[in-house]
Amino acid sequence: MSPFLDLPPLSAADFAAIEDQVAALLHTTADVIVTQGEALLPLEAAIRGAAHPGSTALNVVTGPYGQTFGNWLRSCGAEVVDLAVPFDSAVTAQQVADALAADPAIDFVSLVHAEAATGNTNPVAEIAAVVRDHGALLMLDAVASVAAEPLLTDVWGVDLCVIGGQKAMGGPAGVSAVSVSARAWERIAANPAAPRRSYLSLLDWKERWTDAGRTVLPHAPAQLEMLALGACLDRIAADGLPAVIARHRAASAATRAGVRALGTLAPFVPDDADAAPVATTLRTPAGLDAAALAARLDPALPIQPGGGPLAAEMLRINHYGPAATLETVHSCLTALATATDSDAKPGLVAAEAAWTATVQG
Ligand SMILES: *Cc1c(COP(=O)(O)O)cnc(C)c1O
Repeated sequence: MSPFLDLPPLSAADFAAIEDQVAALLHTTADVIVTQGEALLPLEAAIRGAAHPGSTALNVVTGPYGQTFGNWLRSCGAEVVDLAVPFDSAVTAQQVADALAADPAIDFVSLVHAEAATGNTNPVAEIAAVVRDHGALLMLDAVASVAAEPLLTDVWGVDLCVIGGQKAMGGPAGVSAVSVSARAWERIAANPAAPRRSYLSLLDWKERWTDAGRTVLPHAPAQLEMLALGACLDRIAADGLPAVIARHRAASAATRAGVRALGTLAPFVPDDADAAPVATTLRTPAGLDAAALAARLDPALPIQPGGGPLAAEMLRINHYGPAATLETVHSCLTALATATDSDAKPGLVAAEAAWTATVQG
């Protein structure tokens, strides 16, 4: 093999076309900036762009990422109101409305759409309407929801919508993107504390790339990742986004039904309405260590123990991209049945019925 990367060059036009494909995926006409790093890059860039001393943020915590956002907001000098709910449930629009009513100074809201780590998803359409009425800017972490469930950035009124390619898109982790509404650009441009001439600067990309007509890239493109992202966007377009979303919903429904029929493990998120289509989290019974159980499974299966303190009690089945098939759900259920000495059959039957009902419904 040649020691050189024998790849076609990635032109400014290619880069711009990929941004346009991302905009279509997000259902937005706002500017989309493709950021050359994992999704934590645009998430931190969005928060540091918008937050400053004197601003007040409502930080909705429904999983581990919300805690990270709160820390960034505080480090920007913002007042932070944390609204935390148990990680096996969703936040309601009413809870957000109450928090906003209690503190009229709130001018920024950070929210995670779906949480891959805990397997829950939040009702963004209703929450965004409440945030709009209050007049605050809304940042949405849609890394784990994009391509797994509807994401209507403009219809909902999301100002900063962040995605990554590595979850339901089935693509690369090394590039990510953020859409920035006109309101969000005004806010960031008016913020003296917003990063400038920095790797975290969205304003630099606006000035040197977007507003300059997207003809000259300010930095060398992350060519491998951009080619992978482009290929992944092409594949989603070829399959059709509704079909990709339906596969993830069906994989989640089938896994939940199958696990319930098997009996030993239970969905970590009890209410189906709160369950994220991107990954199904499971609770192991007392005495059955989730990490030990996961270690006995075929490492080729998309099953991993929960992170941090959840490693003892939670298993997570990822339905990322190509894994969102009935075949993979069946393989996972069979492996779990074998590892817990139970009969796989009832789980497989229930999973297939739920899969069919979901794709037909
Ligand atoms: C996966 C994920 C990210 C990306 O973070 P990683 O730590 O690289 O996996 C960000 N936000 C959410 C909600 C995610 O699920």
